[in-house]
Amino acid sequence: MKKVKFLWIGIALLVIAGGIWYWWSGNEKYDDNIDLNHVTPEEPTYLYGIAIDSFEVEEHTILKNEFLSTIFAKHGVNNLTVHQLVQSSEGVFNVKDIRVGNPYTTIKERDSAQTLAYLIYHPNLVDYIVFNLKDSAAVTAGQKEVTTEIKEVAGEITSSLYEALIKGGANANLAMKMADMYAWTIDFYSIQKGDKFKVIYEQQLVDGSPLQIGNIHAAVFEHKGVPYYGYRYQVSEDKPFEYYNEKGESLRRAFLKAPLKFSRISSRFSLKRFHPVQKRWKAHLGTDYAAPHGTPIIATGSGTVIASEYNGNNGHYVKIKHNTTYTTQYLHMSRRAVKVGQRISQGQVIGYVGSTGLATGPHVCYRFWKNGQQVDPLREKFPTAEPITKTAIPAFEAYRLSKDSILNRIEIKKAPISEEMKAELLKDSLAIEAN
Ligand SMILES: [Zn+2]
Repeated sequence: MKKVKFLWIGIALLVIAGGIWYWWSGNEKYDDNIDLNHVTPEEPTYLYGIAIDSFEVEEHTILKNEFLSTIFAKHGVNNLTVHQLVQSSEGVFNVKDIRVGNPYTTIKERDSAQTLAYLIYHPNLVDYIVFNLKDSAAVTAGQKEVTTEIKEVAGEITSSLYEALIKGGANANLAMKMADMYAWTIDFYSIQKGDKFKVIYEQQLVDGSPLQIGNIHAAVFEHKGVPYYGYRYQVSEDKPFEYYNEKGESLRRAFLKAPLKFSRISSRFSLKRFHPVQKRWKAHLGTDYAAPHGTPIIATGSGTVIASEYNGNNGHYVKIKHNTTYTTQYLHMSRRAVKVGQRISQGQVIGYVGSTGLATGPHVCYRFWKNGQQVDPLREKFPTAEPITKTAIPAFEAYRLSKDSILNRIEIKKAPISEEMKAELLKDSLAIEAN
């Protein structure tokens, strides 16, 4: 019994000693880290780079018929100082650019005179101009920090894409980005009720308020029941970011160089040329390709036929709308092979070479419109349509799957939009347009 008792006391003593040692050594470690001399002082509050704690800050709006001089006078600044401020602003800000309705901030001393120390004018949501009355009437320009947030939106079209985006809580300007991304895949004029979309995109923010839409990272747009996927991806650092579909094919498709498979240019696009039939100098807003009578003419890009007819000048001709930006036209055909409203794929035969209308010999006059203006397609820089190479596909696949997992998770809500939400979003859109 005695031996057992001693054993217990021994164990207890060891535990106590161990505990004391542990406490002591631990304490010593902590002591090393505590610096009692270093106490964090209270951080001053900065606004436009100015420590404002001892000042009074007020927000105002530029009223009708107010100029910089009247604003400064209103806040008790004398003419001489105003003159100095106008002089200092040269090269920084044109004081005549002050616009009615824009906000400005006053920072005043907390004295009885409430002396104006700084005035900050806001030409837009990001930029600001500081008129410093404390420091020899200095004028400086600054920019607020713009942050980027990754956001998601989904919806189903009931009336328009704009409305569907607003319902989903996104800015309507995202529609423009989507139209650009899908310019070669979907004609956004033809989107219809029941089409669905899911988008992962960048929203730029300033002061927590939405500013501009950044890049779309990935999207799926279901048009007439067919899903069109798009992933913004950079194959390697020396290549630009491109949108690819799920197979790694570029969403952007270049035009074919010519509307004939084997062709010879007989007359280039020119603003001044001698017309062989009319015998006078006039602009030739097309490119002529000479070819034997009956040679197939092919569409340079996919699109919809918007004209297929005959007239005295053009002869038999076909006009194809490719997207909101590009339209092409093919003149002097011997025979047309397509009808108005028909969907055409790139390389499809749309007619045959002839010399109908004002033409001397068999050729096709190829005309090209960009944003409603005739341009020389041979001088246009079209996006390349390189697919992702086999060796780069595994990396793309991994990226695609990571985006797909997000796209699959996004739900298409059918909740109706409140009037409040609509007004708020409309306000945001207007604010962006104003900039
Ligand atoms: Zn021509």
